[in-house]
Amino acid sequence: MSTADPIRIVMSDKEIPEAWYNIAADMPVPVPPPLHPGTGKPIGPQDLAPLFAMELIRQEVATDRFIPIPEPVREVYRLWRPTPLMRARRLEQALDTPARIYYKYEGVSPVGSHKPNTAVAQAYYNRQEGIRRLTTETGAGQWGSALSMACNFFGLECKVYMVKVSYQQKPYRRVLMESFGATVVPSPSLETEAGRSVLAGDPDSPGSLGIAISEAVEEAVRREDVHYSLGSVLNHVLMHQTVIGEEALKQMALADAYPDVVIGCVGGGSNFAGLAFPFLRERLQKGLKTRFVAVEPTACPSLTKGLYAYDYGDTVGMAPLVKMHTLGHTFVPAGIHAGGLRYHGMAPQISALVKGGYIEAVAYPQNPVFEAAALFTRQEGILPAPESAHAIRAAIDEALKAKEAGEARTILFNLSGHGHFDLGAYDSYLRGQLQDYEYPEDKVREALAVLPKVGG
Ligand SMILES: *Cc1c(COP(=O)(O)O)cnc(C)c1O
Repeated sequence: MSTADPIRIVMSDKEIPEAWYNIAADMPVPVPPPLHPGTGKPIGPQDLAPLFAMELIRQEVATDRFIPIPEPVREVYRLWRPTPLMRARRLEQALDTPARIYYKYEGVSPVGSHKPNTAVAQAYYNRQEGIRRLTTETGAGQWGSALSMACNFFGLECKVYMVKVSYQQKPYRRVLMESFGATVVPSPSLETEAGRSVLAGDPDSPGSLGIAISEAVEEAVRREDVHYSLGSVLNHVLMHQTVIGEEALKQMALADAYPDVVIGCVGGGSNFAGLAFPFLRERLQKGLKTRFVAVEPTACPSLTKGLYAYDYGDTVGMAPLVKMHTLGHTFVPAGIHAGGLRYHGMAPQISALVKGGYIEAVAYPQNPVFEAAALFTRQEGILPAPESAHAIRAAIDEALKAKEAGEARTILFNLSGHGHFDLGAYDSYLRGQLQDYEYPEDKVREALAVLPKVGG
């Protein structure tokens, strides 16, 4: 290895992509349409209009290959984009592998993850359409922080329903959201029907993402000038994240390299899609053999143990039915530290591509994931988000397999965020107090037995 090999491949802000990539134009497999939760019929724009900006609804069903990024959105992206592409050379040396390991680092965004890539776009379009406030839910606070920042930039109010147990146990993300001017309420709250009815039954309810979604949606439906915002899963969200992969394509070329395998962690699937979809387009257009690996926790194994079926997007059954890999909408995940990977379903586009054999899926328990994170921290100096550490685990295993095979594999993974707000998790790991969870097979069967009976 020569010192001439670049370690940090940066581009100027003139190189921020001018368009998002819409994979719907190139989908090699069908993605079945979302259905109305009440009627079981395909939903139309009018069903979504109370919740989302018209332009976002248009993007959700668009088939144009590229959708221009509005200048005011690119202007905000300039605060941290293009993000660096890094060669993990010290990690390669520690593993003594012939593989080359690259990662795209999204932790340089102001709130420390990839999530502002879509939050900024969503805030912009809602502002354009005269909306005054966005509501959303947040668990540990990654998404809430991103949307709070985006609303602040475009002069929108932001109301975040934060799962009560996180609100109490993880105050720092709340403080960050409030610093951007957002209003953060612990959910269940007394502000909505949904919250009041939960509290009537259980005044000490710790809350859940499902309840927080119901509260945020209820407030948006009730008022004309209020919309709701979602941070993953939907087609338009995945599309906004493709700035990651478009930049990485150029940066890999600058490094004179091309990945044999592209890796990302998956909760709802947005950061993985953001990096992978542009490389998948190249594979389809040029007949390449690039592999794609989506990494999930064994405690929430929707792709590796779930069923590909129509299910509700939320816990209460208010959200549309979508065909996806699901553990069942009643699924209650164990309290693992990768909070962002605890969703029962998966983005429909990713599910269809896994089903079609274009994307592989693997699952890891917490301890090997944190071991990978610890090694990465010591070699590269970045303490990764527990979610992102799943991708690191898979990248390390690919590098070790390359070593066994004596093969010069090129690996690219997405480091979706840093872990500076997750030090409690690292504390548990360092004290040997982390538990591994394998979601039990019979629980999966139980949850899948109550899937709604619709469609194919
Ligand atoms: C939210 C989050 C994830 C998981 O969400 P996806 O939509 O699957 O990307 C992964 N990494 C980080 C750092 C997150 O904040």
